[in-house]
Amino acid sequence: MSISVTLTRLPDRSLDGKVVLPGDARYDDARRAWNLAVDQRPAAVVFPESAADVTAAVSYAAGRGLRIAAQGTGHNAGPLGPLTDTVLLRTERMRGIRIDPAARTARVEAGVVWLDVVHAAARHGLAALAGSSPDVGVTGYTLGGGLSFLGRKYGLAASHVVAAEVVTAEGRVLRADPGHEPDLFWALRGGGGSFGVVTALEFRLFPVTEAYAGVLWYPIQRGSEVLHAWAELTRGQVPDELTTLGRFVNLPPIPQIPEQIRGKSFVIVEAYHLGDPAQADQLLGPLRALGPVNDTIATVPVPALSHLHMDPEQPVPGAGDGMLIDELPSSAIDAFVQAAGPTAAFPLTTVEVRHLGGELARPRPNHGALSSLDGRYLVFAAGSVPVPNLMTPVRAQVEAIKGALAPWAARQRYLNFAETRHPAATFWTEQAYQRLRQIKATVDPGGMIRANHPIPPAR
Ligand SMILES: Cc1cc2nc3c(=O)[nH]c(=O)nc-3n(C[C@H](O)[C@H](O)[C@H](O)COP(=O)(O)OP(=O)(O)OC[C@H]3O[C@@H](n4cnc5c(N)ncnc54)[C@H](O)[C@@H]3O)c2cc1C
Repeated sequence: MSISVTLTRLPDRSLDGKVVLPGDARYDDARRAWNLAVDQRPAAVVFPESAADVTAAVSYAAGRGLRIAAQGTGHNAGPLGPLTDTVLLRTERMRGIRIDPAARTARVEAGVVWLDVVHAAARHGLAALAGSSPDVGVTGYTLGGGLSFLGRKYGLAASHVVAAEVVTAEGRVLRADPGHEPDLFWALRGGGGSFGVVTALEFRLFPVTEAYAGVLWYPIQRGSEVLHAWAELTRGQVPDELTTLGRFVNLPPIPQIPEQIRGKSFVIVEAYHLGDPAQADQLLGPLRALGPVNDTIATVPVPALSHLHMDPEQPVPGAGDGMLIDELPSSAIDAFVQAAGPTAAFPLTTVEVRHLGGELARPRPNHGALSSLDGRYLVFAAGSVPVPNLMTPVRAQVEAIKGALAPWAARQRYLNFAETRHPAATFWTEQAYQRLRQIKATVDPGGMIRANHPIPPAR
């Protein structure tokens, strides 16, 4: 059902200059998501600069019978759906970062993106549990769990949150931490964005300054032998210090891509290792023996990890989706290569399989709603959609890859890599999901706060 609402300028001055309405010259810029293929058309867009502005925005929305959707960047805006009855709260002006080197923690405001934290922490010899993309929002990423290339060693980013500052659906400002609002604190750590507007997060940092990391590149035609060798590596005794992934890439012919790989297709293995390089070299030996055309694995400072995966560092139009996999036997690799490799029906920009396990697979009693990742591997497939008529073939190919791997799918999905709507119950254990529904019923029974992967309140 779509609701048409007419909005007027604010009577009070607290949000002056921070509200953009349909019809304003700035509306198209204001509503644009990082994923340019998402055409969101909210009832209003608000750009808060403080928690007080967020409270004012919540009251602005409530006063007009509207809902509110917080958005850091719009990396995962696709599943939000029509926003005609919703105020979109763009947090991009809330960019404060404070590092406490003695406590080894960071406090970041809601609109901070990962690269800024990574650099700020590195100045103190510390590392954050950032993901592959430099411009993903810290808040959205962490609320959904947060899978870092340091995750096999340290776990999910959500498991290291020490406090969250939140504006509730009623406009109350709360601090949730182990001693305050324990249910909310638990829900925010992996339960997604359904429980309030987070205005700041505090989380742990780690004493890591460099890693032995890089990419082994092979012609795409060697996909089968390379990925079989990579899967064999992951089936053995792999220390938590080593994270690898196998991946097909079909690089677009655009100037942002280095000339020697622009417009070409490869099968690659990425490696991220903390500790003695000799340990990684030994484990990577069989892959190097296959003779990669390029081997960039070297000791690099931690901030370099934010660029190794080659995620786009500016808004792009795309479509993708992910799934968790229980096991990756040879037959699964064959199915993957058949669906995503050199003979794929439609070449996607990236189709990757990340090795999970290690600390990511160890639920701890002090963890939050997503206490571990249920699956030994994560698959993510995505294609570029520069013109609308590519949406159908890209989506069809993403579904074809998921279908090919369905026999090995885990029961759960991972919220952050779900770029289409899925039943909410599939993101958590049954017990966690029921508790999240209870908490939603307590903090936001009317569904004022709208997340991209919403949790219905318990009835
Ligand atoms: C290129 C790319 C690479 C990625 N790499 C990784 C990776 O390595 N590891 C990983 O775990 N994920 C990864 N992701 C997924 C990413 O973590 C999710 O898309 C995440 O939701 C992005 O957060 P965001 O704030 O940037 O996006 P947004 O679309 O702005 O936010 C997503 C959702 O988060 C919630 N949210 C955001 N801000 C707030 C707030 N202030 N208060 C309450 N709720 C809020 C809302 O529900 C919102 O709909 C990647 C995504 C892309 C596109």
